[in-house]
Amino acid sequence: MKAAAFEYVRPRDVGDAVAALAGTAGAKLLAGGQSLGPMLNLRLARPKLLVDIARIDALRRIEDAGDAWRIGGVVTHAEIEDAPALRGTMLAEVAAGIAYRAVRNRGTIGGSLAHADPAADWPLALAALDATVVLRGRSGERRVPADGLMTSAFTTGLRDDDIVEAVLVTKLSGAARFGYFKFCRKTGEFPEASAAAVLDPERKLARLFVGALSGAPQPLPGLARALAEHGAAAATPDAVAAALATAAAGLDAVERRMHAGTVLRALRRLGA
Ligand SMILES: Cc1cc2nc3c(=O)[nH]c(=O)nc-3n(C[C@H](O)[C@H](O)[C@H](O)COP(=O)(O)OP(=O)(O)OC[C@H]3O[C@@H](n4cnc5c(N)ncnc54)[C@H](O)[C@@H]3O)c2cc1C
Repeated sequence: MKAAAFEYVRPRDVGDAVAALAGTAGAKLLAGGQSLGPMLNLRLARPKLLVDIARIDALRRIEDAGDAWRIGGVVTHAEIEDAPALRGTMLAEVAAGIAYRAVRNRGTIGGSLAHADPAADWPLALAALDATVVLRGRSGERRVPADGLMTSAFTTGLRDDDIVEAVLVTKLSGAARFGYFKFCRKTGEFPEASAAAVLDPERKLARLFVGALSGAPQPLPGLARALAEHGAAAATPDAVAAALATAAAGLDAVERRMHAGTVLRALRRLGA
């Protein structure tokens, strides 16, 4: 099947993109097209106008903003994977594990957040990193915590005229540790279960999230606190099972095992 007919514009800057988005009912942003492309071809999306933001320079930068990284909304997974400044960071590790290189060359961090697939990597990783999403719309800039952007599967708090302009990720201290693990039945596919943990004693950060659920990634705050206070001893299978039973009550027995194993593997990478 082919996409239904649509108009196409490629604005020069973010202001023009917001104006195009706000000025046409049924307009949609196009970034890497890795999700929207198939949706257009299957006619699951039938926008009147596509606003292509993939080449807007201001959205394509990875900037050192002092205590944080500012990653533009159309920076691709591959650019995060390859950025010399991000070498060794959780951002680079997560980016390198997304699908396969052809997808990473096109797919963008902003597109991933906006598409809000429950199994996607960025909603989970950026929640664990306590990142902030910078949105730009008709009424100016808004900032929302990454763990509050996605409200349910494929649904976010983005308004019709909002663009994910950037993601701010506060740098971890030298004492920080992170663990990220996802269970995929086949390499390059979306995971069946995923987990991300970040402990940074200097920043007083202790965050543990599970992903690939039926909705948004869910925090396991009690277990994260216990890990920060007691270290590896807190990461028992029983403690993980109890935390999951609260955070993701709807899992069946097989899913519970997959998610519990995934959390334990993420914590092992953390060194817990
Ligand atoms: C085969 C395959 C395997 C994949 N595997 C994984 C995986 O393992 N893990 C994973 O995380 N992802 C995976 N993906 C998803 C992919 O990595 C992209 O992140 C995802 O497709 C969305 O990014 P995009 O730039 O392609 O967005 P697009 O497809 O261009 O857009 C998706 C949606 O987001 C909106 N949008 C795009 N950019 C913005 C913006 N800046 N602000 C507001 N709205 C915006 C669009 O209007 C559209 O509604 C996979 C994709 C494919 C095709």
